Amino acid sequence: MTRTGTQSFQAALILLSVAQLTAGLKCVCELCANHTCETTSDGACWNSVMLIDGKEETVKSCLSPTEMKGQVFCYSSRNVSKRNCCFTDYCNNETLHLHTERPLKEPGWSRLQLAVVILVPSCLLCMGILLGVFVVQGHYCAYSRANKQDQEEPQDDQMLMSPDKCLQELIYDMSTSGSGSGLPLLVQRTIARTIVLQETIGKGRFGEVWRGKWRGEDVAVKIFSTRDERSWFREAEIYQTIMLRHENILGFIAADNKDNGLWTQLWLVSEYHEHGSLYDYLNRYTVSMEGMIVLALSIASGLAHLHMEIIGTQGKPAIAHRDLKSKNVLVKKNGTAVIADLGLAVKHDSNTNAIDIPSNHRVGTKRYMAPEILDETINMSNFESFKRADIYSLGLVFWELARRCSARDPSVEDMRKVVCDQKLRPSIPNQWQSCEAMRVMGKLMRECWYANAAARLTALRVKKTVSQLSVIKDVKE
Ligand code: ADP
Ligand code: MG
Repeated sequence: MTRTGTQSFQAALILLSVAQLTAGLKCVCELCANHTCETTSDGACWNSVMLIDGKEETVKSCLSPTEMKGQVFCYSSRNVSKRNCCFTDYCNNETLHLHTERPLKEPGWSRLQLAVVILVPSCLLCMGILLGVFVVQGHYCAYSRANKQDQEEPQDDQMLMSPDKCLQELIYDMSTSGSGSGLPLLVQRTIARTIVLQETIGKGRFGEVWRGKWRGEDVAVKIFSTRDERSWFREAEIYQTIMLRHENILGFIAADNKDNGLWTQLWLVSEYHEHGSLYDYLNRYTVSMEGMIVLALSIASGLAHLHMEIIGTQGKPAIAHRDLKSKNVLVKKNGTAVIADLGLAVKHDSNTNAIDIPSNHRVGTKRYMAPEILDETINMSNFESFKRADIYSLGLVFWELARRCSARDPSVEDMRKVVCDQKLRPSIPNQWQSCEAMRVMGKLMRECWYANAAARLTALRVKKTVSQLSVIKDVKE
């Protein structure tokens, strides 16, 4: 090719790459539905491989411009990992391998011969590749340098994962250093794969929740079954919404999908709270007035943050939870609470007034559904409707909380007035009439509560009546 020919070819290549940079790219993405993702404009496809437990593990995905700026995504480091960014559709399709050194012991070849045979073609090849890369990606280097500013040396995994760092520090470092939405995928994967599971702590819609240990710290691991891959992906996606982190929203740590040859294990790792859900907590303990207020305030703060739209490049969309209930609120050691289980949440795009996934009328838990959801009169074209339905559920959570608030122990005089003078007893709900066993239990209670002590049933009578309940009869037969 002549000199002018080469120049115009290079110019064409640069133009082509610039054009591709301005539009979104399609990339291979192992963690995504359909194994495909699309970048925003100026994003890149990401391809990586790292050594975990002596095995090469690859990750392919999309990178946003923010991630390319502040993180270490596009740089390789030592022999532990290799990371590439590329800028054409599906360019991350190839599978990377780490360079492993092999002993050079071919019989009959002298060291010099080997050097000539291996080094000369390699050098020529490298020069060719370097030239190509230099020409095609020259513009990206300039872009990347402009954004690197104070990042002289690319950080490597060793620094990111330095053994003296605890989870809080890691999360703080990463979420202030660039993407703002969570740890880089490679770090998430490394953390997830070095967790040792200890015991199951909960069960919900999608499989089990475990307590695990990572570097001596407790973490919670929600394990999804393979058929719930969409839910796993959705929940991880919501937790990684930029600016979502809040002291009253469960702290997300990592998502990982690991293929063990037989099935794919889908993990969602989060901070662990030993008190468990508010539901379990209120079953175990009553709360003081102050305790109730602290819990109510922190749940309301978490929900307000979730509902709030933050405008700006580092902004956050409004999010509705859609399954707020005491089982999805966790109680922290310090008596405050966090909102958890964001698997059904929806995000609002205020520019287009669209919600990010097609929504059906009735999701969530029946007991906590707002009347407009139950009778299907909810206006789903207005995002406010989802927030308002959350508020209805919040009211019920507050009711559960208040019911377990023991403001103070009543005095004997208080109790005498209520029980003897006003002759009050716990009320028996009407709906107990609709089921035989409940109706009988209600009648028994009344007959135990007579003010006239002699009129009360004997224990034997109570025993006989209970034993005649049809459920018991069925069990006996
Ligand atoms: P699902 O989507 O299956 O309902 P959740 O995220 O609601 O799963 O978790 C189910 C239960 O597991 C919770 O009600 C709670 O008891 C327990 N749990 C979940 N996450 C944690 C955590 N981070 N710390 C302690 N317990 C948890
Ligand atoms: Mg739940």
